[in-house]
Amino acid sequence: MRHIAIFGGTFDPIHNGHLRSAVEVREELAADELWLLPSNRPPLRDRPTASSEQRLAMVMAAVHGEPGVRVDARELLRDTPSYTVDTLSEIRAEVGEDIALTLVVGSDALNKLHQWHDWQRLLSLANILALGRPDYELQLDAAVADQLGKAACDKSQLGLQSRGGFCELKLVQLAISATDIRERLVGGQSVRYLLPDAVIDFINQQQLYRR
Ligand code: ATP
Repeated sequence: MRHIAIFGGTFDPIHNGHLRSAVEVREELAADELWLLPSNRPPLRDRPTASSEQRLAMVMAAVHGEPGVRVDARELLRDTPSYTVDTLSEIRAEVGEDIALTLVVGSDALNKLHQWHDWQRLLSLANILALGRPDYELQLDAAVADQLGKAACDKSQLGLQSRGGFCELKLVQLAISATDIRERLVGGQSVRYLLPDAVIDFINQQQLYRR
């Protein structure tokens, strides 16, 4: 069965924590493709600092030439809040019923899953993979823990079923966050080796994240 992993985020900016996770998830799941899905106006967070176009340009520059990694810009093209459930149903309608789709969610984001619009429907559209993230324990809301617990399976299972499975994955832990990168830039500090040089060049060129 073809297997596509979908990794959403604001990517304001994209950094090596995201990128290392993307590469490792694709390998660990033996997924055919991993799609990075930059979100437009995340309903649960402040407006991103960089514009949609800038965040998209940084994501594209970061993964240029990386095998099996694609960028899906559909949420940036909408002028409405991005509900993951809507995006997943759209993707499901496009790829068909017989493809494994796995939504990749970091532990900090998963802890807020109960606040996501229509979160109960997510597993009817895709599998869910929880990514360990340094400094964030998985502390799920009780209703979420109940639903995900019932769906728990081995990571090898995710590529064998089109939807409905849940598994946790511990990867190389890089305690990098976009918030920290933005703060360093505001403070005039170096961000080298926290994110790709191509992204740093873009940030400098566009004078992004300055005071
Ligand atoms: P911010 O600091 O602005 O909240 P962020 O670094 O958390 O940004 P997001 O774009 O919000 O980045 O994250 C997108 C997804 O990537 C989320 O699921 C998040 O949990 C995950 N993620 C972010 N940083 C890491 C990291 N260092 N390791 C693993 N997963 C990460």
